[in-house]
Parts: sequence; C-alpha cells; structure tokens
Amino acid sequence: METTAPTGEHDLAIVGLGLRALGLLTATPELLDHRLLIIDDRQVVGPGGFADLHIESNSVGTDFFGWVDPAGSFGDILHLPAVAELRAETGCFNLSRLAGALAETATALRRMAANWVFMHPWRVTAIRAVPGRVPVPGREAPAPSYELWLDRRTRLRAAAVVLASGIVERPVPGLVPDDRPLLMSGAVLRSGWPDPRRHPVELGDLVIVGGSHSAFSCVRRILDTDASFNSVKVVSRGRVRVFYDGIEGYRAAPRSPHEAPVDAGRDVCPKTGLVNRYHGLRNSSRELFRRIAAGEVPRVGLATAARATEIQQLCASADTVVHAAGYRSRYPALIGAGGAVIDATDHSGILRPDADGTLGHAHPDLANIFVMGADPYPYRDWRVDPASQYRRRGTQLLRRLAGTPLPPAWASAEGGPSTCAS
Ligand SMILES: Cc1cc2nc3c(=O)[nH]c(=O)nc-3n(C[C@H](O)[C@H](O)[C@H](O)COP(=O)(O)OP(=O)(O)OC[C@H]3O[C@@H](n4cnc5c(N)ncnc54)[C@H](O)[C@@H]3O)c2cc1C
Repeated sequence: METTAPTGEHDLAIVGLGLRALGLLTATPELLDHRLLIIDDRQVVGPGGFADLHIESNSVGTDFFGWVDPAGSFGDILHLPAVAELRAETGCFNLSRLAGALAETATALRRMAANWVFMHPWRVTAIRAVPGRVPVPGREAPAPSYELWLDRRTRLRAAAVVLASGIVERPVPGLVPDDRPLLMSGAVLRSGWPDPRRHPVELGDLVIVGGSHSAFSCVRRILDTDASFNSVKVVSRGRVRVFYDGIEGYRAAPRSPHEAPVDAGRDVCPKTGLVNRYHGLRNSSRELFRRIAAGEVPRVGLATAARATEIQQLCASADTVVHAAGYRSRYPALIGAGGAVIDATDHSGILRPDADGTLGHAHPDLANIFVMGADPYPYRDWRVDPASQYRRRGTQLLRRLAGTPLPPAWASAEGGPSTCAS
C-alpha cells in the first residue's frame, strides 16, 4: 500500500484498478515505457465491482485474459494460479473466482512495472484541466493537462487521464413510492445478505425490476436464503433476452412468450455466431427464467411492462422492491480550465467516449481524458469484443502519448505534488 503521495509528474493517470483498467494495462505492455500513476480507493485492488459478488457468472472463464499476449512482457500473468484456473473454465463460475484472479493480477503488475506508481486506498475527488499546452494530433487547439485532486489534500499532475472507475446502480427516479423498502440488486447479491440489522427479511410481495442476469441472480439468492416472501414478480420493460450458441439452437429451442425474439441482423455476433452474446441470459439464470416462465417455480412469476407508469403501479402494489434495472458511471468531478464543473454524461448518466476514446466531444477541456468502458455493456458494437476493446484503447493512448511531450514547466518545482490550500 502506498501511504505517501509520489513526487514528480506523470504521463498518464489511471483512476480505478478493476477489470477494465487491468485489461487495458495487461493488453498494452508498451505502457511500461511510460510514467503511469494508478489510483484506486480500495484496500484490495483488482476485483473492483466484483469484490464480494458471490453469484454465478453470466460469462465463461475462457472469456477472460485472452487479451494478454503470452509472448509479451505480461505473458507470465497467464500462469498465475487463479488466472490459469479461470481460463481453463469453459462453463460458468462463481464471480468470486474472477475477483481472486484480478487481485492476483494487480499484485503481479506491481512487481512487474517499475515505472508505474500505484496508490491505494486513495480517492480521486476531482480532475481539473490545466490550460492547454499539450498538442493533440488531428486537433488544432492544444488539449489541457490535468491536476488530480485526491483525498488527504493531495494534488498530482498528468498529461492524460483514463477513467476506469466503474459504475454504480442508478435507481430510476419516481419508480418506487417513498414509503416502500427499496433494495439495490448489488446489496442482495453481496455476501452477507440478508443482514437482519439492515435489510428487511420479511419481503412480503416482492417486485424485482429488471430482466437481466442480475435480476434472475436476485431471484436465486432469495430462493436460496432465509428471506421469507409471499410472492416474487420479475418485471422487465421488454421481453427477456436469452443467449444461444448459434441461431440454429435458437430456432430449435422451445420458447415462452416472455422471451425476446431474435433479430438475426442485430443480435447474432458476425464473428462468433453467438446469439445475444453479452446481453442474453446464460447458464443457471437462463434455466431459472425458463422454469419460472413455465410456472414451475412456486410463488415466482414474470411480467412485462412497457411503460414506466405500469412499472410504477406494480411497484406501488408491492411490499418490497428490488432494483436491478440500470447503472450510471462512477467518476470524480470533472472541472474545466475556467473552474466550472463539466457534466460529460449522456441522458442515462453514462460516460460514453468518442471514437478516439476520449470525452473531447463533451468539452475541449476533456480531450485528453479517456474512458474505459464505463458503460457496463460497451459491446453493443459487435466489432468490439472485450479483448480488442482493451487493445484498441491502449493503442489510442500510445498514439496520444507519443504526440504529447510533457509541458516544460513540469520539469520545475511546479511539477511535484502540492497541497490544497482549503
Ligand atoms: C450486482 C451486480 C452484478 C454484476 N454481475 C456481473 C456479471 O455477472 N458479469 C459482469 O461482467 N459484470 C457484472 N457486473 C458488473 C461489474 O461490476 C462490472 O462489469 C465490472 O466491475 C466493471 O469493471 P470496471 O473496471 O469498469 O469497474 P470496477 O470493477 O468497478 O472498478 C473500478 C475501480 O475504481 C475504483 N474507483 C472508483 N472511483 C474512484 C475514485 N474516484 N478514486 C479512486 N478509485 C476509484 C473503484 O473502487 C474500483 O476499485 C455486476 C455488477 C453488479 C453491481
């Protein structure tokens, strides 16, 4: 653990060290030639949002770490015990195994990367643009560099920043009456739930809003624990998407009216032939969905409610509501060179990067702030699988770093860390 702030300036600061930052770093060994500052606010780095999620994955073990070049500088990562075991898993697995592999990877990176400074647990509270001197290839105006404001009144500088700070669940405003107990799906899926001191264990008539893997994992958790309930209704806005190995499997499968029909042009990955590759229910969630749809799970049912008002009515008639319906990006305040806070999210609270990987489209002051898949599903574009996403972003960063000499002033005393006055 880093207890004091490092001195000096950095080519690149990475905020967050979870799956996506680790994917970016381990897919891009050329970053070893740069001075990186990597900051995370957790005691144990690597697992990020997967820490404590004791549920079955919706992916298979072989989906992970394929982005590491076995012959490259980080090839040894593939031999770490937890990583090798995960990669040998052709089926689903408990997400705690992914968390273990990510923690092991983060530890190994710290040994391997002498040029990188790791700081944790430190939190970045804001990132402020410092007026532009950093040339950006293809843009006329030079982009700013950045000052990162950390807790403990520390400020550090970097020529570019990567936000890899993840997501948080976002309750839909007005969906649930104020007097109704509302649980976020993450709370239900973390180890230790239900905790009688903090959560209702008498759930009564329960509505779960959402039709994804998280929603069905919540149903499983409720069935498997001591929580008592009268009824459970899983309410989704559209029909539920299901994963298939190929379009033939989809055509041959018996399907309930609750299942979304597949559009072969939109839902089939042209590279792998997989249907609903990242969105579809898979493994035990798919089986549970099918059993509920067939009426085989006592007191548990499904409902489709296309309009928000219909969902509101269903929530109003429930004793307890579980929210498994969406996320927003988690990120520090972004402050322009003029001192104003810049909101760079879209209408759903997600930071969506431009084609060049940055937030330059939101404001020129953010032209050297890159985003690592803050969208939980950055793979709607089938040309981008998780592995190529990491390498693609890494390549964009390397190009930008090659064209961005550090401002000369940074070589002076100004370049070191400073302390906030207030
Ligand atoms: C209930 C639930 C179920 C899920 N199930 C699945 C699943 O089955 N499969 C799947 O692929 N995904 C699942 N996810 C999503 C999963 O959490 C994300 O896919 C994954 O964690 C994204 O990785 P990331 O690196 O983008 O973010 P994270 O893993 O969240 O890592 C970001 C890191 O940045 C740190 N950080 C954030 N802000 C700051 C700051 N200001 N300063 C310093 N550090 C900061 C965080 O503490 C964290 O360590 C689930 C999520 C939830 C909540």
